[in-house]
Formats: sequence, C-alpha cells, structure tokens
Amino acid sequence: MAAVAANLPNRCLLCQQDIIQYSAAKPHTGVCQTCLVAGLYQQEVCLGCGKSMPLLQVYCGHCQHIEPMLVIAPCSYHQGLGELIAGIKYQQQCAPLAALVQVLAVRGMDLAARGLIQLPQVLIPVPLHRNRLKQRGFNQAWLIAKELSAQIGIPMDDSLLVRCVDTKAQAGLNGKQRRLNCADAFTLQRDNPYQRVALIDDVVTTGTTVNEISRLFAAHYTHVQTWCLARAEAPGLL
Ligand SMILES: [Zn+2]
Ligand SMILES: [Zn+2]
Repeated sequence: MAAVAANLPNRCLLCQQDIIQYSAAKPHTGVCQTCLVAGLYQQEVCLGCGKSMPLLQVYCGHCQHIEPMLVIAPCSYHQGLGELIAGIKYQQQCAPLAALVQVLAVRGMDLAARGLIQLPQVLIPVPLHRNRLKQRGFNQAWLIAKELSAQIGIPMDDSLLVRCVDTKAQAGLNGKQRRLNCADAFTLQRDNPYQRVALIDDVVTTGTTVNEISRLFAAHYTHVQTWCLARAEAPGLL
C-alpha cells in the first residue's frame, strides 16, 4: 500500500488542498491535518452511547445503569470524516486510512492513560463472510486492525472469530431486523485464550453486530470493547 500512497496526488480528499508533509518516511495521505482535527469530537462523549457530556467519565447517567459495550472512536460519523470512511469501504479509497487509524490510536491510548479503559490484549477485526470477502475483495475492518496493530503494538488475531452465516448488509434495516439478521452469524473457531479483546470495525451504528459477537466472548468471561474509526450516533444524541 505504501507504493500506491506514494503515487497518489497528495491532496486532501475533503478540502482539495495540498497536504503539508512533515516526514518523508511516513507520508501523510488522503486528508490534511486541518480537516482531520476539525472532524474529531470537540467535547467529551459517553463511551456507551456517544452522547456529549460536560465532564470526562466512562458513561453518561443513563448508561451507568446498563453498562453497555465501550465504544472507542475519535469522531462522529456525521461530523465530516464519515465521507472518508465510506470512501474506504465503497470506493477502496484507502489514502486516508493511516491518518484515520492514527486519531483512533491517539484516542484509545489517551483514554487508557487517563484510566477510563484498560488496553486490550488483542485486536480482532469484525470478519466478513467469505462470500462477501470474495465480492468486495477486502475487509476494511481487517485493514484498520492491521494498521492499528502496527501503530500501537497490540497484536491482531484474525483467525479466532469467523462469520459463518452470510448475512444481509445491515444498512437500511431497523433495530429488530438488525438483531435477527446477525443472530448466530459468528462463531469462535478455537478456544479463546484472551481476557480482554477489542473488536475492530470501521463504523459502529447501533452496535448490533459487536454486541452479537460479545455474547460469544461473554461465555468465556472475556471483556470486550470496540474500537472503530467513527461512531454513527442515534439521531438526537449530538
Ligand atoms: Zn483538508
Ligand atoms: Zn451514554
């Protein structure tokens, strides 16, 4: 991918300005620093539901009682960077991938340094069914996990979890349909040796997929969190 990146015109896909390079060894591609920073969360958010909060804490008042899955994301899908994330998935436009993963890495390491989360032992990309993988040619969650693993030094495991049922795409389905669509769609291929795992995906919307996967790990008392490039909050939460 490095060779491809080197040959791309080095413009920001959002504002079309040339991207200023600080290091020749690690070229910055796909998005400029200004657009990247402008697209990040500008306030603290609940790690359960994504709602804005005045103070940094793990959960908002509502989530404190139900303790939903922790979702670590650097931004909202609706604040500007969503377009780039959709571009990775649907147009294979991977130029901004490393920069987007970097802001996710910074977010996760910062939350860990402040004692709000514990770092996972392993990164597990949300798998595609082999039919879908054949069709699309790549799994964006795998690309994100691989890059994140390189950046933060936590290993990736892409062989434990598989998607055994070829589910329909979740987009366009309501909550109940989403749950039915991915019930029992995943399985663990061998014994799970981990106590703390992070599921890696591009976007978390309702959390149906990652919650379904976490049920598999809950049977082994494994703590599961999700790291993603962006969170698409329910309407009205921002
Ligand atoms: Zn820009
Ligand atoms: Zn909340």
